[in-house]
Amino acid sequence: KANRKSHPENTIIDINGIKIGGEDFVIMAGPCSVETPEQITEVARAIKKSGAQILRGGAFKPRTSPYSFQGLEAQGLDLLNIAKKETGLPIVSELMAIDQIPLFLDKVDIIQVGARNMQNFALLKELGKIDKPILLKRGMSATIEEFIMSAEYIMAGGNNKVILCERGIRTFETYTRNTLDLSVVPAIKELTHLPIIIDPSHATGKWWMVESLSKAAVAVGADGLMVEVHNCPEKALSDGPQSLKPEKFDKLVKELRKFTNIV
Ligand code: PEP
Ligand code: MN
Repeated sequence: KANRKSHPENTIIDINGIKIGGEDFVIMAGPCSVETPEQITEVARAIKKSGAQILRGGAFKPRTSPYSFQGLEAQGLDLLNIAKKETGLPIVSELMAIDQIPLFLDKVDIIQVGARNMQNFALLKELGKIDKPILLKRGMSATIEEFIMSAEYIMAGGNNKVILCERGIRTFETYTRNTLDLSVVPAIKELTHLPIIIDPSHATGKWWMVESLSKAAVAVGADGLMVEVHNCPEKALSDGPQSLKPEKFDKLVKELRKFTNIV
């Protein structure tokens, strides 16, 4: 179903009028984790002003250590909805388990499947049965074929609203958090009709690399970006070192407007 041969025209996914996979370059931005009402509303206001169209924020966090902050869970989704009410920005947030689906159907506009769950086939099958766009992040060691097959699991059940996201893969390099695989974009465009966005924040782990790799994302033909932004990265409960301050994010969007269409 994802195959370009069976469906030559690009799939465009409409999120409350925002079209992903069309002419415009769509930016999703926000903190790694939702932390407080002030934090999420402040960040939401700032990113909207700069030109982001979708608010991201983790509520259920897949942390490497069980002793790290695990997210505000359902309360985090409520805080995202307060920020949505104020700014009008639709919400994308990560779901980790099947039993969270009803909550997410009610509270988010796009359901994110994280890199660690890309091959959780039981979860993908359940997400295939619902009518809600899915942002599927590439597993950190997934081949392009495996990435496409995970999208296929969702589509096989009848949910064709799949947006792919490249967030860097594991290589021998340790200077960056992951290695951004830019070649995945033309490969996905050749093999499938699905939109694909780039997450330069998790790909690099370093805020100061985000701008150059965002420009690269535009150059290779990605449909948009997912960027981590925090009002106080030094105090962030997760992923501070890769998070842009709102001023830096504003500069990034201004820079990208020179090369691409951002509403
Ligand atoms: C995230 O977007 O905060 C996240 C955990 O991403 P990934 O699944 O790509 O590591
Ligand atoms: Mn993160």
